[in-house]
Amino acid sequence: MTEAATAPRSVLITGGNRGIGLAIAEAFLANGDKVAVTYRSETKLPEGILGVKADVTDEASVDAAFKEVEAAHGPVEVLVANAGITKDTLLLRMSEDDFTSVIDTNLTGAFRVIKRASKGMIRLRKGRVVLISSVSGLYGAPGQINYSASKAGLVGIARSLTRELGSRGITANVVAPGFINTDMTAELPEATQKDYLSSIPAGRFAEASEVANVVRWISSDEAAYISGAVIPVDGGLGMGH
Ligand code: NDP
Repeated sequence: MTEAATAPRSVLITGGNRGIGLAIAEAFLANGDKVAVTYRSETKLPEGILGVKADVTDEASVDAAFKEVEAAHGPVEVLVANAGITKDTLLLRMSEDDFTSVIDTNLTGAFRVIKRASKGMIRLRKGRVVLISSVSGLYGAPGQINYSASKAGLVGIARSLTRELGSRGITANVVAPGFINTDMTAELPEATQKDYLSSIPAGRFAEASEVANVVRWISSDEAAYISGAVIPVDGGLGMGH
């Protein structure tokens, strides 16, 4: 079956106004799906993508965004939990707030949107959940105890969700990017970027579209029998996931 045969589905990507999230939105749009993204501050989106305001740290805001998407596109059949932040610093300098705020956005935020989306998916008896983790989640990274913990936690969510809802036509998979050229990596000091580059077998950072294509495929009918998987898109950096 071709991917286009599954379209148009109602697809929602959190944090889809820029970076990897926007590239994912564009990939689903090209596939013929009905695509919505969440944003926090006013943003100009490409034509054809519906923007809904939401902060994933706020359950009421998440619920309002889903209602808007459901009214425009129908129940969400593909959910990509992509919104994420970093607050990098070494352990001894990391405040409890640095830790809990990253967990609240990256991990509890994913829980909030997945819980909200699962209601519709259970009714539809089909659905695709994709969680955007990171190579740091399983490989670890100095200065990222908060971020790595949040990203590793997404694997637990995907696998438990698979065991809870796998029999209802719902899959849940983790995509774990390595270094992708976005605002998030542009913030890294040049020395750190050079350091990482030397340890990536592919010898380069990736473009966001390279992550987006994998997310689109894992959400297609062709991938219906893959669930609870962790798919690295990292040029070989974290082999052994
Ligand atoms: P960006 O920093 O470019 O974008 C992050 C997105 O998340 C933005 O849309 C942002 O919205 C949104 N966001 C942040 N906090 C919230 C919140 N509380 N509620 C709703 N939306 C929020 O990041 P990337 O595109 O680089 O990363 C996207 C995902 O991929 C993240 O989960 C990140 O951890 C992961 N990742 C990125 C890698 C990389 O190399 N870039 C590598 C591995 C994983 P706003 O514009 O309003 O701030």
